Amino acid sequence: MSIRAKLAWTFILLLIFGITAISSYSILFIRNYLLSEGEKQILNDTEWLTITIENLRLDDQFETNLNEAARTSGYRLSIYDEQGHLFAEVPFFETEQAPDIIDDQILLSLNSANERFLAGPSDGDQLTAYSKLASQFNPAGFLRVSIPKDQIYEPIKTIRWIIYTGMFISIGLVLIVSVLFSRYISRPILQLESAAREIADGNTDRTLDLDRKDEFGTLAKSLNRMAEKLRSDNLELVKMNQKQSQFFADITHEIRNPLHTIAGSLEMLQLGGLDSEKEVKYLQTAERQTHRIDRLFKDLLTLQRYDSDEHFIRKKTFPLCSVIDPLLETYENEATEKGLKLVGKTDKEDVFADPDKIEQVLENLITNAIKFTNKGEIQINIERSDTNNTIKVEVSDTGVGISDEHLERLFDRFYRTDKARSRDKGGTGLGLSVVKSILNAHGSEIHVKSTPGKGSKFFFYLPQRATS
Ligand code: ADP
Repeated sequence: MSIRAKLAWTFILLLIFGITAISSYSILFIRNYLLSEGEKQILNDTEWLTITIENLRLDDQFETNLNEAARTSGYRLSIYDEQGHLFAEVPFFETEQAPDIIDDQILLSLNSANERFLAGPSDGDQLTAYSKLASQFNPAGFLRVSIPKDQIYEPIKTIRWIIYTGMFISIGLVLIVSVLFSRYISRPILQLESAAREIADGNTDRTLDLDRKDEFGTLAKSLNRMAEKLRSDNLELVKMNQKQSQFFADITHEIRNPLHTIAGSLEMLQLGGLDSEKEVKYLQTAERQTHRIDRLFKDLLTLQRYDSDEHFIRKKTFPLCSVIDPLLETYENEATEKGLKLVGKTDKEDVFADPDKIEQVLENLITNAIKFTNKGEIQINIERSDTNNTIKVEVSDTGVGISDEHLERLFDRFYRTDKARSRDKGGTGLGLSVVKSILNAHGSEIHVKSTPGKGSKFFFYLPQRATS
């Protein structure tokens, strides 16, 4: 049975039970009230009827007058002689005749008691009262006044009719109200159920617009939040999937290129008949490409370690110059060969980081700077900030620069602004990803500012000392 039907039935049964209980109690109460009022009334009426009948003369008008008294009083009047024998009864019904002789008990009471009026037995279907007559005009000795109890209960019929009519109208109203109310209650449940089913089936775009301030509204909001979270998780998964596919495609591509070049060089060498200068050239090309593949695997391994092992870095306090100075020495020749100046500050500033990994970061940034600068200089600057106890490390160049459209993806694996040129320069496309991963593992970030044609600045911050 649906919730709607259950609710409607519950309302109706409660109502029927409630109305029946209340109406039964009220009818019982009214019956008792009417009976006790009837008993009082019949005794009162018996008094004036007694006087009226005492004054009736026993002539041909006797019965007519008796009938008139019965008609105006609404009672049935039975007249008994002094021995208690019935001799007149008005109005006369075959079905409801008064006893021919008055009950001995009543006769005794009427004859002995001071009271002239007496209520009859309360059981039976008639309400009765008796009186002793003392008439000089007729031989009547006793009067019996009676009325069927049903007549007393007559108003109850109307009351009962009103109650039952009211009950049926109420049931009708309850049916309508309960259908409307249960629809109001069950509609959001059905909406929630269908939305939850759709979301579970994968339709995470499904949102529920329940404009309610009650628990259903809260539940709908939670459901929307859940769908939103699922949606973003799904998107994240799709993106990750795409990235992974792209990553594998890139690796394949990155390895196939140098392998082709090596194969080409070896083929040429196998053909023979080359002068020694050309031989050396092909051998050098093959060797360069081998180094490139080697570097590619090293970079990939490093990245994989950062992805899976957060304890890969070992931090300590060390002077930055102990890393920068040897790098300046190492790359000075390479820079000079390109006609570039490589300058750096060698202040004795301490930082708290992993020296080997910071060296790798700086090495990647310096080699990139040399690669992508044709004239001018490359600077390594250190700036101390006492306010937040950090050291800003910056590698700037006066090279080709990077346009804004590339900045967002610059640190993605295998991303290059100019693929062909970068490969020519021996790049793996992983240098900046490695820089980013190392700095992230230090709780830091790499920043870049660049103007195409003017140069680039790569910088990051390191803490001066260990933070507790
Ligand atoms: P690559 O091995 O190609 O150098 P990186 O991840 O180190 O890979 O760099 C990604 C790309 O970012 C480079 O191909 C280059 O286009 C750009 N880039 C990096 N550093 C610089 C720089 N100093 N000046 C201009 N472009 C740069």
